[in-house]
Amino acid sequence: MDATHPDAHLRLVEAALRRRASDIHIDPLLDGYQIRLRIDGLLTTTDHLSTDTGHRLINQFKTAAGIEPGTAFTPLGARKKLTAEGRPIDCRITLAPCISGPKLAVRLLDPDRLRHRVTDLGLRESGLERFHRWLTTLNGMFLVTGPTASGKTTTLYALLHELAAEHRHIVSIEDPVEYEIDGINQIQVDHRHGIDFAEGLRTILRLDPDHAMIGELRDPDAAQAAVAAAVAGRVILATLHARDAVSAVTALRNFGLADHQIATALAVVVNQRLVRRLCAECRQPASLTPAEIEWHDRHRLRQPSTAWRATGCTACEGSGYHGRTGLFEVWHVDRADYEMLLAGADEETLRRHLDAEGHTDLWEDATAKIEAGITTHAEVQRLGLSLPWE
Ligand SMILES: [Zn+2]
Repeated sequence: MDATHPDAHLRLVEAALRRRASDIHIDPLLDGYQIRLRIDGLLTTTDHLSTDTGHRLINQFKTAAGIEPGTAFTPLGARKKLTAEGRPIDCRITLAPCISGPKLAVRLLDPDRLRHRVTDLGLRESGLERFHRWLTTLNGMFLVTGPTASGKTTTLYALLHELAAEHRHIVSIEDPVEYEIDGINQIQVDHRHGIDFAEGLRTILRLDPDHAMIGELRDPDAAQAAVAAAVAGRVILATLHARDAVSAVTALRNFGLADHQIATALAVVVNQRLVRRLCAECRQPASLTPAEIEWHDRHRLRQPSTAWRATGCTACEGSGYHGRTGLFEVWHVDRADYEMLLAGADEETLRRHLDAEGHTDLWEDATAKIEAGITTHAEVQRLGLSLPWE
């Protein structure tokens, strides 16, 4: 890239968008700067710049975002709409002082990415059927669990799109509100003014919504407010950090919730991860290597009967992958599960019960997607398993 151009920052944003990047990092090195793009969740170095050129590029972003020249640190980031490729792109620009110089990160909030519908998330037929069953009955709490950057918010937004289409009154509380959705009243967590998830939820319930979304059940207050609202008959959507669907129950118990509250509130618990999707132009059938077979054995997972490998072509810029998709476990809490929750069944008992009912866990979904050529063993292994029996 020509970083000396007065619009070099916009050129960089355009190049990043063309490559489907979600983030741009301009990082100081000992002897210059490097530019890295996050594409399909992975960082790739694209350019090296001299220190002067790196500073100039960072200053262009600072000026464009209206950050004072003397500012070295923007902990909350600066929101700015930049015009790139003829359309406005919402950016969150964060500046941090590092030992070897200032670092700048740009999150590209491309609205196209949030136009996902439930059918675009990567759910297989049975998971999709459970989502739709909940959307037709609309009761209790829909919880989406998984680690950071596992696509939880995308899933909730896809559900919100479905609900908004029915002219429901929907209010959300998020930290931060990254994407604005037409027809939904979105409130941002603001700790300086005393609006946390719990207080925000109490406020939005006074607005009498049909449905409420809480970005994350992060503390006992938020979890208790959400579960109380669901028990009182509200439809609540929320995310929660948990290893798998059943361990969400333990997380709620650890927040001080009683078994009868959890049993009454929970309607659906989803557990998910994101993996890169194989490029359909160049993927090749392949067998698992002995090491991969051993890995499946060691983790007591079903061996894929077929597999594919990434090769790389012009369509995928040589990476062999194009875009991402979700791996899902979808637990629709039924009558028998409700009885068990009410009786205080522990995780292990719940898991054995679901296994006996033929429940599909995340890793079975992964194996099915390896077999279908949607993703690869390498992608699944890269997630880092944390299996309940390990
Ligand atoms: Zn390809």
